[in-house]
Amino acid sequence: MKITRVEAFHVDWGGGRNRSAWVRLATDEGVWGLGEASPMVHGNASLEIIASALTPMLLGADPLETRVIQDRLFHQHLKVGPEGAYAGALAAIDIALWDLKGKALGQPVWKLLGGAWRRALPFYASIGGNGRRSVDEVCRVVEDWMRLGPAQVKIRFDADKTARDVDLAGDIAKARAVRRLVGDDFPLAFDSNNGYSVQGAIRVGRALEELGYVWFEEPVQHYHVESFAKVAAALDIAVSAGEQEYTLQGIKRLIEAGVDIVQPDIVKTGGFTGLGDMAALARAYGIDLVPHQTQPSIGHTANLHFVASLTHSHHPAEYNGPRDVQDVVFKTPVRPVDGKFVLSEAPGLGLEVDEAQLGKRMIPWSSSAAAS
Ligand code: CA
Repeated sequence: MKITRVEAFHVDWGGGRNRSAWVRLATDEGVWGLGEASPMVHGNASLEIIASALTPMLLGADPLETRVIQDRLFHQHLKVGPEGAYAGALAAIDIALWDLKGKALGQPVWKLLGGAWRRALPFYASIGGNGRRSVDEVCRVVEDWMRLGPAQVKIRFDADKTARDVDLAGDIAKARAVRRLVGDDFPLAFDSNNGYSVQGAIRVGRALEELGYVWFEEPVQHYHVESFAKVAAALDIAVSAGEQEYTLQGIKRLIEAGVDIVQPDIVKTGGFTGLGDMAALARAYGIDLVPHQTQPSIGHTANLHFVASLTHSHHPAEYNGPRDVQDVVFKTPVRPVDGKFVLSEAPGLGLEVDEAQLGKRMIPWSSSAAAS
C-alpha cells in the first residue's frame, strides 16, 4: 500500500467562526485517513508545511510505517521547527496515518495502540474565560457544565500573557466560590494560563491547596522552566504544564524541573507516535501525563483513543465542550453520554464523515511552493 494523495485543507465552519486545519491521506488501495493540526492562526503555517515540505516525502510511502515516516519527516526540515507549527504538521500527518492504518487493518486505533484499559471515558469540563467573569458569572457557567456530568472541572483564566498577577485576590475568590458550589469532594483544577509571577503563583497555589484543588496548571510563563521549578518546590499541590511543549526533550525539561503532571497535546506533539514517547518518558519518571486537548472532533477523538490505551491513567480526559457547527460533517456527533465518551470497535478513529457536508466546507490549501 502506498500514499498517493495528500490533501491539506481548511474546514470553514461559516459565519466568521474559526477554521480547522485538517489533512487527508489517500492510498492506492482506496483507504484514507483524517488528521488535525493545532488550530493556532487557523493552522495556516502547519498546512503550508504539509503542502510544501512534507507532501513530496509522503507520496509513495507505506502508510503503515508510522514511526519511520515521523522520524524522517521530523529530521528532514528540522530547522523550520522543531516546535510550534512544525510539530502541529507532524501531528496532523501522524493522526491521519493511524486512522488510515486502523481502516486498512479493520481495527480501532485504541486496539492498535495496545488495547483499552477502559472504553467508556470520563471527561473533565475545561471551562475558559473566567478571568473576565465576575464570581457569580463563573459559578453560573460551572453550574451549566455540571449538567453534562463531568468527573472534574477545570477553571481557566485565559490571562493576558503580557501582564502579571492582575487580580490575585479575585482569582482566589473565584476558586473559593467554585469549591463552595461543587462541594468538598468534587475534583477541581485551576489553570492560570501563564498569568502569574513566581510569588503570585505561590500565593494562589497555597489557597488552592487549602481548597483541595487537584492541580495548578501553567502558573507562570511556559518558557520559564526555572520559574516552574521554584513554584513546584514551594507548593504541595500538583503543578501541571506541557501544552506548549512540542518535543520529547521539552517534556523532559519540565519533568526535571519538578512539574508533577505533564500535558502535551496530540495535535501539537507528533500525534500518537510523539505522544506515546512522552507517555513512556513520564512513566519512567513516575509522574502523570494528562493530555491537553480542546478541539471538538478529530483532535478530541484521537485523544480519547490515546487516553483509553494510556497505562495507569486515572485522570479524566479534557473536554472543551461541544461545537454544534463541527458535528455536521460527521454521521455521529462526538458527544458524551451520561458523563462518558464511549469508543466503539469501528476501524481507525471511528469517525464517519458525511462527504457532502465536508465537501461544502473544505478549502484546499494552495501553496505556490508545492505547485512548483
Ligand atoms: Ca491550559
